[in-house]
Amino acid sequence: MRTRFAPSPTGRLHLGNLRTALFNFLLARGSGGAFLLRVEDTDAERSSDAAAALVLDDLKWLGLTWDEGPDTGGPVGPYAQSERSGIYGEYLDRLRASGHCYPCWRTDTELKAFRRKCLAAGRPPIYDREWARLPEDEVARRESAGQRPVFRFRVPDTGALESEDCIRGRQSFALADIGDFVLQRSDGTPAFFFGNALDDALMSVTHVLRGEDHLSNTPRQILLLDALGLPVPVYGHLPLLLGEDGRPMSKRRGSAGMGEFRAAGLFPEAVANYAARLGHAFESGDLMTLDELARHFSLDKVGRAPARYDPIQLEHWQGLAVQAASDPRLASWAGESAFRDVPDGMRERFLGLVRPNVHRPADVAGWAEILFGRGPAFSAEVEAVLADAGPEFFRAALEGLESGDHGLAAITGAVKRRLGVKGRALFRPLRLALTGAESGPELAPILEILPDETVRSRLGRWV
Ligand code: GLU
Repeated sequence: MRTRFAPSPTGRLHLGNLRTALFNFLLARGSGGAFLLRVEDTDAERSSDAAAALVLDDLKWLGLTWDEGPDTGGPVGPYAQSERSGIYGEYLDRLRASGHCYPCWRTDTELKAFRRKCLAAGRPPIYDREWARLPEDEVARRESAGQRPVFRFRVPDTGALESEDCIRGRQSFALADIGDFVLQRSDGTPAFFFGNALDDALMSVTHVLRGEDHLSNTPRQILLLDALGLPVPVYGHLPLLLGEDGRPMSKRRGSAGMGEFRAAGLFPEAVANYAARLGHAFESGDLMTLDELARHFSLDKVGRAPARYDPIQLEHWQGLAVQAASDPRLASWAGESAFRDVPDGMRERFLGLVRPNVHRPADVAGWAEILFGRGPAFSAEVEAVLADAGPEFFRAALEGLESGDHGLAAITGAVKRRLGVKGRALFRPLRLALTGAESGPELAPILEILPDETVRSRLGRWV
């Protein structure tokens, strides 16, 4: 099995792109096959080397590795389409020689007018082959005059193209609906259909998983590979992925993706585990490594229902990733400055304490500040709760603190005895007085880690 990811480097990868990359990677790795990377950068205006470099960097960040690609090379390169123009020219000539394609001189303006006319008449704007039967000598005359045509593939007029989609099952496309599509633009660059299909065949790609938006391209690609006598890969179209706004993901609209995820401090395994479940069912709800995900990845577990980006789910995986990260990794994720307020030698204990309560590096710094730095900030609401608990509550708490081992049990025991409160009425004011927050790390270890004088002054403030 050989799969590939074929990004167009026109911007940062969004969640839909990265899911496509991941699924192809998992499919290859799970079967012991090869995973290729091919940069589809023929649109010179919208592509850039910087964007391509960023795409590679994002994929590496996610943990993906490829066996062949623009940076690593390989036996069927080059792996950037901008370096393959000779190959496209050669295969275009073959299609021309076999009569499968022809030059067309319709200009963009004419094309737009033609489309408008068709739509106004209630007809689909299928190319009418105005230029398909131009005599050879007229073609030659125009070409020698330097007029650059586009080249169109001649699609059979009737019949249907049947194909087996490895996710959606049997597909049938009426050829009459397709129309002669462009293979090569007038600037000599290959149109998407052509470069994409040809490269898959020449790179011996066996399986192509891609977004559902490409489904209607597939019959065109099969037709042209058949015409060239080249092998057709198995295509599988992944269910649509909608953004939070309910619209399909799009680079141009800035849908959630790598830029945002990385800047937010998400762990790559959180992003990968989340993305792996967008349209693929895994039995286990555990955080898995890429190897484990690959082992459990299977085409028959890819669903057909559209998925929708859900930041809350993503956050769930981030929580698991934070739990699973080693201490050194968590510390470097939080960043040196997060520990500014943490006393020497306390770093590990502090990290262990706040680990269940942090999702972002800034959360670590926030807890360090609350526990050891500026201290808690009290909202008016919190102040009201503390005032409500009353001075007696905190006097008892202070007595408890001084009575024994300075631990939580001594404090709560004293308050319970004196005021008879328990449960939430007991723990909430304590937590609020010590942290200013309704939730957070466990109270007992907070008391262990805070210096006694800090505890004393935080409780004493409400007496
Ligand atoms: N360059 C295309 C894209 O980014 C690739 C489509 C495909 O995977 O075949 O949409």
